Amino acid sequence: MSRSAHPAGPRHADVLTEGHYSAPPADLNRLDPKVWSRTVERSGDGELTVGGLEVSRLAEEFGTPAYFLDEADFRSRCRAWAGAFGPDADVFYAGKAFLSRAVVRWLHEEGLNLDVCSGTELATALDAGMPAERIAFHGNNKSEAEIRRAVEAGVGRIVLDSFQEIVRVAHIARELGTVQKAFIRVTVGVEAHTHEFIATAHEDQKFGIALADGQAAEAVRRALKLDGLELIGIHSHIGSQIFDMAGFEVSARRVVQLLAEVRDEHGVELPEIDLGGGLGIAYTSDDDPAEPHEIAKALTEIVTRECDAAGLRVPRISVEPGRAIVGPTAFTLYEVGTIKPLEGLRTYVSVDGGMSDNIRTALYDAEYSVSLVSRTSAAEPMLVRVVGKHCESGDIVVRDAFLPADLAPGDLIAVPATGAYCRSMASNYNHALRPPVVAVRDGSARVIVRRETEEDLLRLDVG
Ligand SMILES: *Cc1c(COP(=O)(O)O)cnc(C)c1O
Repeated sequence: MSRSAHPAGPRHADVLTEGHYSAPPADLNRLDPKVWSRTVERSGDGELTVGGLEVSRLAEEFGTPAYFLDEADFRSRCRAWAGAFGPDADVFYAGKAFLSRAVVRWLHEEGLNLDVCSGTELATALDAGMPAERIAFHGNNKSEAEIRRAVEAGVGRIVLDSFQEIVRVAHIARELGTVQKAFIRVTVGVEAHTHEFIATAHEDQKFGIALADGQAAEAVRRALKLDGLELIGIHSHIGSQIFDMAGFEVSARRVVQLLAEVRDEHGVELPEIDLGGGLGIAYTSDDDPAEPHEIAKALTEIVTRECDAAGLRVPRISVEPGRAIVGPTAFTLYEVGTIKPLEGLRTYVSVDGGMSDNIRTALYDAEYSVSLVSRTSAAEPMLVRVVGKHCESGDIVVRDAFLPADLAPGDLIAVPATGAYCRSMASNYNHALRPPVVAVRDGSARVIVRRETEEDLLRLDVG
């Protein structure tokens, strides 16, 4: 049975019963290239290196816990996505997965576009020099101030999420004497999971405007009437950590159906569609994500086929991968503090971070793997649960994994594939100081987001 890494968790996706775990891997020292970033390897003396740097040195210089981001890997994934989709499509990196000024510059240099979903993500993107026309602004409740800022900056598209917002954005654009390019986000009634999807007429969630009952068609009708808006396309986003393209097939069919209705009613062929993000990555060796060129080929074929059937010109396609770009490029490095064997159950290994630097396990029952990285070991595998140092029994980093039985306090262990939704969802729970993000490339390491300090924390507390 495959262990699902769906963010909503294996139990949600119904593929994993409680207490199930895989057998120990044949070789505990092996670093599976599926889950580790591309420049990771073991040095001659058994230590993990990234970008040629040994983790013991990195821990000494930057402390633990810390996220180490493999810049060469990040850039190569950007190029792979942009190359796979080619000049007739647009790849938008979903900034919510992890955003910093350095990342924005890399995206810019590698020719990607950027999704933001708050005024402050937008501010980060603009500050780091991303051209506004390459930014898309998302969100189900953008404030008027956020909309004004985005329109004033000249963002390339605002993704309209509700009837109220259609009017708000149009009004603000008119006030500012401009016309804002916009997409309408629709809910197509497809909820995609890792290995399966559910297709219904209605979707019970907060984003977008339902295709069902003519809601989306009515939204298009209103948007086309307003001077402040130039409606350029329809957007849909169906889930996350998706491995199976079948959900995209259904969603593309439904979106293309709407495009055909719009043509029939208004004589307008909307020139673009955005299929969202949600493409899966390997969190454990059991996961088998597709490559960007396979995804590009599948999505392009699906859209082309549906448009041919409807007699429509094939629209320009956008995609919005977040996790699939940044997720695999970073690992979190921890130091082992305490080790508690529970007879007949498992061994609890406590690290110096936890749910404050990776909430996904507690929040979604997400799956991760873990390795001893400061040395190799010939000891037998032991079943462990890697837990944090927070005052909360659900503070789990890796629910079930195997580490060598000679694991000791002071050893460094690392959790791979933590580039997405870990630092970006980090918290100050228990007044934890959020860890730094260190970019590593060609034998040099550079802090791109520094570690929080006690002073940072106390500065917000005005007494
Ligand atoms: C979250 C989100 C994404 C990115 O999702 P990933 O799973 O990180 O690829 C893309 N588009 C929209 C609209 C989103 O909400």
